[in-house]
Amino acid sequence: MEAKLAIQGGDPVTKEPFPTTIHGAEEIDEREIDAIITTLKQKKPFRFLHEAKDSKVSQLEAKFAEYMGCKHALAVTGGTTALISALVGLGIGSGDEVIVPGYTYIASAAAILAVRAIPVIVEIDNSLTINPKDIERKITEHTRGIMPVHMRGTPCRMDDIMDIARRHKLLVLEDVAQANGGIYKGKKLGSIGHAGAFSMQYYKLVTAGEGGMVITNDRVVYERATLQHDSAMVFWEKGTFTTEPFAGENYRMNELQGALGLVQFGRLDDILTKLRKTKSIICNEIKTLPGIELQDVPDPAGDCSVSLCFFCETSDKTRAFAEALRAEGIPGGSMFDKAIPDRHIYYYWDYVLNKHTADRNGCPWTCPFYKGNVQYSRNMCPDTLDYLSRTVVIPLGQKLGEKHINWIIQGITKVANALNR
Ligand SMILES: *Cc1c(COP(=O)(O)O)cnc(C)c1O
Repeated sequence: MEAKLAIQGGDPVTKEPFPTTIHGAEEIDEREIDAIITTLKQKKPFRFLHEAKDSKVSQLEAKFAEYMGCKHALAVTGGTTALISALVGLGIGSGDEVIVPGYTYIASAAAILAVRAIPVIVEIDNSLTINPKDIERKITEHTRGIMPVHMRGTPCRMDDIMDIARRHKLLVLEDVAQANGGIYKGKKLGSIGHAGAFSMQYYKLVTAGEGGMVITNDRVVYERATLQHDSAMVFWEKGTFTTEPFAGENYRMNELQGALGLVQFGRLDDILTKLRKTKSIICNEIKTLPGIELQDVPDPAGDCSVSLCFFCETSDKTRAFAEALRAEGIPGGSMFDKAIPDRHIYYYWDYVLNKHTADRNGCPWTCPFYKGNVQYSRNMCPDTLDYLSRTVVIPLGQKLGEKHINWIIQGITKVANALNR
């Protein structure tokens, strides 16, 4: 009764192309266009802080804070500048080590370096997010912070991470760039640690073209992040800040981004509802198939469900699985292939591994305030490379219909049964 695989000359499950898996940007319609045009017509595309009630950026911040259940939200130009502002907000800088997973967008590590701190790369586990046991192994007397990254919308093991942070007195900055609206045990991702950083660039769940957000419940963290995001902040916010001013940069979000982001943010829950439903239907159907093991999602109900990931027994089987699946007409691939550089895997982070920053003297690694001795190598996180090389990933979009969901289930079932007889 087993059908012949398409890769062996059989009929594929489908020949129809799948809809896009870009999220917010694909939903853009008259609402976004109207919001941008209205803002343009007002001839004030700059966010005037003293006119907060009329500012789209201020409205977006207020929405964000409310939705995330946090006291403060600061809009910035992107996820990277959100991370940098949050790190500065937390007071992390020269001499400090910050723990970051080996599977995240390279910007997570770059942001740590941008504040002259040292990234310490640790393993992921079968959740494809940071492994709490390895965090504990890699804490040194120089560790100041942990940056859990909710990769592909999967909530990290936040209970364990917060417990480690409490015991070792460390600061936690959640990188929520890929997990806007994700939840862990009833709490919005980004609101669990001492601060959270979001991105609203094109590839994320909702978009402002470019954009970022810092959230925190700590007034001092908020004030410091705000000072970092505008070198002249002290002149704008006369009298309301208690934090001693310092030299910041310019990461200000403009009103066009604010207008776009505001409409997009209103679409987030709809997108998430569809993605979660799609993923749970597929997972239920495939979880007992031979030879595959689903990614262990710490809180499946809170998962943003932007992709379906499962492990095969070996990397060879994983590659074969992904190829067979594609031949069936199902978009997907294996996560780690040494031939294909991927900016999300530390293995390819050459400038970090080679300790190379813009600084000609090799700061921050050579900085006299740094007393540690971090070492990097291509194979320093073997578990991470093993998990990723055994992961098949199928990206999910809110535009997948019932037929696509059925094809994905049929395709995975057909390939799993054929390859694991
Ligand atoms: C996208 C991303 C960032 C950086 O966001 P930008 O808006 O591109 O600066 C940081 N961390 C992770 C995990 C990301 O996916």
